[in-house]
Amino acid sequence: MTFSASHSTPAHFSPSEIILPPLAADPVTGGLAPFAMRDANSSGRAHDEPRHAYRGAFQRDRDRIVHCEAFRRLSNKTQVFTGEMGDYHRTRLTHTMEVALIARTLGRALRLNEDLIEAAAYLHDLGHPPFGHSGEAALNACLANDGGFCHNSHALAIVEDIEERYPEFPGLNLSAELLEGQRTRTRGERGRRPRRTPLLEVQVVDAADSTAYDAHDADDALELGLIRWEELLEIPLWAETARIVQQRYANLAQRQRAKTVVHDLINRLVGDVLTNTSQALRTANPQSIAEAQAAGVLVGPSQELRELKRELERFLYDRVYRHPKVLGVRETAQAQLTALFAHYSAQPELLPAGHRQRIERVGAARAVGEYLACLTDRHALRAFAELG
Ligand code: MG
Repeated sequence: MTFSASHSTPAHFSPSEIILPPLAADPVTGGLAPFAMRDANSSGRAHDEPRHAYRGAFQRDRDRIVHCEAFRRLSNKTQVFTGEMGDYHRTRLTHTMEVALIARTLGRALRLNEDLIEAAAYLHDLGHPPFGHSGEAALNACLANDGGFCHNSHALAIVEDIEERYPEFPGLNLSAELLEGQRTRTRGERGRRPRRTPLLEVQVVDAADSTAYDAHDADDALELGLIRWEELLEIPLWAETARIVQQRYANLAQRQRAKTVVHDLINRLVGDVLTNTSQALRTANPQSIAEAQAAGVLVGPSQELRELKRELERFLYDRVYRHPKVLGVRETAQAQLTALFAHYSAQPELLPAGHRQRIERVGAARAVGEYLACLTDRHALRAFAELG
C-alpha cells in the first residue's frame, strides 16, 4: 500500500500530501440524508487550510477541540455540584461526553453528520467558567457595564482567539458551520446572532444536552442526598418510569433501582425525540439543508414529553439548583470570583501574557473576566487563597 508521497524526511510535514489508495465511497459522507451537512458543503474556515488527506473537516474540528487546553480544563469544572460534595456526580467534562454520546446516537439514526455533531457537542459547554452557573452569574455581574458574560459567547472567544496552539492562526480555526452553530446559543454579544434556524446537527446537540442534564442532575442529586426518592416520585415523568422499572424488576435494591430509572428515562427521551423528529422530517420532507432550515426547528421531543420534561426541570430548579447546600456554594464561589475580578482589574499587568495581550482588543475588564472564566475550580480556589 502506498502510504507516503515522500521517501525522504520532509522539512515540513503536511497531512494533505499523504497519498492514500482511492476509496469506494467517501467515508465521511456516505449514507447521509439529503438534509445532512456534508464536508463538501462547508463554507470553510476563516484562515484557509489545505484539505486533509484522510480526515474530514468536521472530524478535524472535533480533534482540535479535544486537544485544546480549555477542553482538558472541563475535567475540573463544576457542572452543578462542586468537587467537595463527593466524587459520584458529573463534571463539565463527563457531562460534555454524555451529551456527545446521546447526540451521536440521535444523529446516526437520523443520518446526520456525526463528526459535526460530535464537534458541536464538545464545543457546547467549552466556555463555562469555574463553579458552573454560579461562576457565570458572578462574572456576568462583574462585567455588567461591559456587555455581561455568557458562557456560550466565551466558548467562541476561546476557539476564535484565546487558544494558542497553531502557529498559523489564533484560536482553533474551526469550520464556519460549527461557529455559526455556537453563535445560535449566544445572546448576540459576540457578532450578530444568526437569523437562520440552526443546522439539524446543532439541533440534535441541544436536544441531547437537555436529555442529559434532566436525567443526570436528578441522578446526581439523589446520590448526593440532596433530594429523596419519594420527592422524585411526585414528578409524573419519574414516577411513570419508576413504575415500569418496578414491573420489570420487583426486587431491586434502591441504588440499582435509581440507576435503572435514569437509564430507562434517557432511553424514553431519546426514543421520543427520534420518533417526533422523524415525523417532523416526514411532514416537512426537506431535500436539502436549506429546505430543512426553512422548515424551522425539527428536532425535539413530542408535546407530551415536552410538558413532562418541563415538570421535572421545574422540580430540579426548585429543589436541586436552589438547594441550601448548592446556594451556599454559590455564594462562596461568587464572592471569590468577585474578589479575584477586583484584584486583577486593579492590576491587569498580573494577567498571563496571552490574556494581557487581549486588553488592547477587548478592554481590561473583559480580558480579566475571560482569564477568570478560563480557570478551573481548583485554580480559582488557589488564586483566591493566595489573595490573603
Ligand atoms: Mg451542557
